[in-house]
Amino acid sequence: METNTELLFSFLDGHSARISEKEELLYLEALFETLKAWAEGTISPEAEEATKEEVRKAIQLAVLKGMKANAQPHHQMTPDSIGLLAGYLADRLSKGSRYVTLFDPAAGTGNLLFTVMNYMDGRTAASAVEIDDLLIRISAVTADLLAQPVTLYHQDALRPLMVDPVDVVISDLPVGYYPDDENAAGFKLKADEGHSYAHHLFIEQSMRHLKKGGHGIFIVPANLFESQFATQLHTFLKEEAQIVAVLALPPGLFKSQAHAKSVLVLKKPDLAGGPKPEVLLANAPDMTNIRALESFFAKVDAWAEENGYKTDSN
Ligand code: SAM
Repeated sequence: METNTELLFSFLDGHSARISEKEELLYLEALFETLKAWAEGTISPEAEEATKEEVRKAIQLAVLKGMKANAQPHHQMTPDSIGLLAGYLADRLSKGSRYVTLFDPAAGTGNLLFTVMNYMDGRTAASAVEIDDLLIRISAVTADLLAQPVTLYHQDALRPLMVDPVDVVISDLPVGYYPDDENAAGFKLKADEGHSYAHHLFIEQSMRHLKKGGHGIFIVPANLFESQFATQLHTFLKEEAQIVAVLALPPGLFKSQAHAKSVLVLKKPDLAGGPKPEVLLANAPDMTNIRALESFFAKVDAWAEENGYKTDSN
């Protein structure tokens, strides 16, 4: 028997393939039309009582199919295993708050953000920015289908934003050079000469949009602190943030060592001052290895308690 996710994917895939052929649209554009029709109630799948996670996963499979069909190297979707780790961290670091505001400045189709929101279901509201028009439209209609409260902005996230400071920024940062030197000039992390690193500017922009005491959870290149701009980044972080954790992601998730990523967790210092958390340095386990995962979460829980993070969400 097919699972709900399989049924939903077949429904999305079938409709999208038909629309794509009939209207000569790219698969991803046809997928957007399909999702819109589903959200408006014009078409509906046969899967009964699908959970938010089943819906998210089915949409994710269809988006992946669309991205494969028209290679989109700059829009790589964040894999579920990273999303689940980010969800766990966002939840763990914000225990003690009944309600948590989130922001993803590079949301893509929203897979990372929705994984985190589903993980913390009912406790979050989010803002998200994405520069690509089709991806943000898919993200908006997915938010409707998942009934997750997200305000979306279609713009360059490194331009001024209408986003109030949030409790947690969560983002799989675009990596590479930012082409707009004029705009980059307004950032401390701008390059002295030539283009600046987009991922560095995104970290600075995110810190501006965090509440004092809030956390940034960033998916960054594993060699973040070894690049040509590393000294500048270190100085910035010393002045503007506390490094809370650096978690190396399992190498198996990436095509090669050069593409390896880590999770960098930063805290925006609060007025209370107080002791800085001891930096958590760890290798995140393979998320399919349940035992390793449980032991990793136990280690993070113990670290969180020792470093003054609350244990309850009320
Ligand atoms: N987390 C996303 C997901 O699960 O789908 C994937 C994020 S992807 C690694 C990075 C995203 O940043 C891409 O979708 C890209 O279009 C977007 N992006 C790149 N430069 C941007 C900018 N200046 N402003 C806003 N978004 C940008």
